[in-house]
Amino acid sequence: MTTASLSLSLEELETLSPEQLLQWAHAEHGDRAGIITSFQDTGSVIVDLAQRVAPGLRVLTVDTLRLHPETYALLERMEQRYGITIERFTPDPERLRRMVEQHGEYLFFDTKAKQEFCCEVRKVGPNQRALATLDVWFTGLRRDQSAFRKATPKVSRVKQPDGRHILKIAPLADWTQEEVDAYLEAHAVPKNTLYEQGYTSIGCMICTTPTRAGEDKRAGRWRWLNQHSAGEKKECGIHTFASGI
Ligand code: SF4
Repeated sequence: MTTASLSLSLEELETLSPEQLLQWAHAEHGDRAGIITSFQDTGSVIVDLAQRVAPGLRVLTVDTLRLHPETYALLERMEQRYGITIERFTPDPERLRRMVEQHGEYLFFDTKAKQEFCCEVRKVGPNQRALATLDVWFTGLRRDQSAFRKATPKVSRVKQPDGRHILKIAPLADWTQEEVDAYLEAHAVPKNTLYEQGYTSIGCMICTTPTRAGEDKRAGRWRWLNQHSAGEKKECGIHTFASGI
């Protein structure tokens, strides 16, 4: 097995604080460790924590070329605030061209399958290219983001398309929204201004809408396709393509 080498067991890693996890990953895995952020509040906390305890840890993002202007503005603010360069992974131009040629720019309105195909081309593909450069992947998943995510482990092994196994770490998996908000406030971390407009999850423009009180945080995704229940799986594939072992 070619899993990222583990000087600590999964059980031991699970007991570490977010700061300790970031320090451990940077010290043990250097440039093979990184944070993939989509500029939602949890990702911003992790980036801020990393600048304090593990400066130099890579920060990456998937740019679907369909993000809100507010998200692109936050990307630049984060770079300026921390003096870092955030690595952008964009869709393969040839796959994108073929998809639009065959199905049109707005194929995601047609069927669930076409939405997933668009997410595959614009999100999952670039995310896989980003993951190919990593052995340790920090992500902002939290258990309270949706019913589908309530069992999210803090540390897990995930299999990659090339057969490798990497560590996926959600250091704030057990944080509540209140804890995230308190951290952002206390450390004056730049926030995505879409939250002020009622968004509780942030993805591509058009496919993401604000949510109402009582809805899952991800209920605003692809409303026209699956709005049947709070537990509906609202995932683009980035966190579901890889199988844990
Ligand atoms: S969220 Fe919408 S625009 Fe973005 S990749 Fe998925 S289907 Fe395409």
